[in-house]
Amino acid sequence: MKNKEHQEKGIRQPVRTDAPFLSEQEKIDRIAAAFVTIMETLGLDLEDDSLKGTPVRVAKMYVSELFKGLDPAAAPDISTFDNHYQYNRVLIEKNILVKSTCEHHFLPILGHAHVGYYSSGRIIGLSKLNRIVDYYCRRPQVQERLTRQILIALQEALQTQDVIVVIDAVHLCVTARGIEDPHCSTYTIDYGGCFEDPLVRKEFLDCCPSSKLPGLLQ
Ligand SMILES: [Zn+2]
Repeated sequence: MKNKEHQEKGIRQPVRTDAPFLSEQEKIDRIAAAFVTIMETLGLDLEDDSLKGTPVRVAKMYVSELFKGLDPAAAPDISTFDNHYQYNRVLIEKNILVKSTCEHHFLPILGHAHVGYYSSGRIIGLSKLNRIVDYYCRRPQVQERLTRQILIALQEALQTQDVIVVIDAVHLCVTARGIEDPHCSTYTIDYGGCFEDPLVRKEFLDCCPSSKLPGLLQ
């Protein structure tokens, strides 16, 4: 597992290291059975055509999509290249889709990440930036940890501290339940190296859209 190291060096995900190994199918079977209990407890009719497939659908969605990033084998290959272009200014990738799940309520977190770095001599394929964000999103998350995990993964891959990460996201546990405030989003920022300098940070932040949230959440 070539990228397991990245996960272990970064900010730790609260997973049990003594959890028994389960195949993907075993996980789906167990979660589906548990979801049957939830639906039955709510008094839902599992014989109904529309509902009977729901436990397995939810289980597959958890294991193969929403929480795929709990599997170290799903980590993207983040190979880097020599910086032949002698480009020594900031590179910024804006509006990377953030589609994660709040670990407190298991409700969606939707928004965007903006990342920037100065090359230390190594550069990374642009889409790899999206893939790193996506990998860490596919876990039960809190936005603070997600931001730190992405920063550290990029710093390790690019072999430099000169990296910055911003996330601006809507938490459905805030907009659709509880306080039910439809207009607020959560902003997190983390950085190292030259981005500690407020002027360097300002150049990056001036390029980032203030708050561009997906579709109906704008
Ligand atoms: Zn929540």
